Amino acid sequence: MEILGKKVVITGGARGMGKKFAVDLKNLGAKPFVVDVIEENLHVLKNETGIPGQVVDVTNEKGVESFFEAYTAENGAPDVLINNAGITADALFIKQKGDEIVKFPFSNWEKVLNVNLTGVFLCAREAAFHMVKRGVKGVIVNISSISRAGNLGQTNYSATKAAVDAMTVTWAKELSRYGIRVGAIAPGYINTEMVAKIRPEVLEKLIQNIPRGRLGEMEEISQAVQFILRNEFFSGRVLEVDGAMRI
Ligand code: NDP
Repeated sequence: MEILGKKVVITGGARGMGKKFAVDLKNLGAKPFVVDVIEENLHVLKNETGIPGQVVDVTNEKGVESFFEAYTAENGAPDVLINNAGITADALFIKQKGDEIVKFPFSNWEKVLNVNLTGVFLCAREAAFHMVKRGVKGVIVNISSISRAGNLGQTNYSATKAAVDAMTVTWAKELSRYGIRVGAIAPGYINTEMVAKIRPEVLEKLIQNIPRGRLGEMEEISQAVQFILRNEFFSGRVLEVDGAMRI
């Protein structure tokens, strides 16, 4: 796919990696549109970069449906969806604290599944629906994670990212007949706010386990997004960009 002039919807793109994807694609001549949950962050994005956006909670079926309906009525179906919105809410599955045994909070489980799994499902479904309806041979890029392999403290997050990979393969198989490609990227630890939340001593240990000896940069994941868009034979696979780290 030629990036120039393409309409790209990016979820969770008001900050972090999604913002980087949006800015880089705009600089390549695409027309990004961001959906996110905090209006103020969308204003900042618009003021800083000129990239438009709208408040849409990806977990809300009706909200996602009406967004894609309205977006398509105004612009035509998106050529690209980047399913980037994702959250963490880490906890140990079972944690013994003295005499007390603490369970993984169900609220953490639900919260992360809603955004990382249901949100990805809903946005991809709506984007694909409008692409097919309008005959747009588009691309869906899902952001997975190295944690898809299973990671300590991330029962919920790891489960969702493994599911994102499975949905990527499934959708690629199903949607190929309409000329739609679906790919995923599994980033390792990237220099973002999400990683800045990790305690410094834990982060230091973590970096020691990355064979490349450093965190990845957002630029390097953005390049992977562009590769997937451009490469017409790439579909149903997960691109690992992790500095050779294996969890
Ligand atoms: P950020 O937390 O920086 O950005 C995520 C964005 O998604 C935020 O703007 C957030 O809003 C938004 N968001 C959260 N919930 C919703 C929702 N319900 N509807 C719409 N938007 C929502 O994340 P990163 O840039 O670090 O990560 C982006 C993606 O990359 C995620 O899928 C993540 O799992 C994945 N990833 C990140 C890695 C890293 O090292 N950072 C490594 C591997 C994968 P708010 O401002 O409210 O938080």
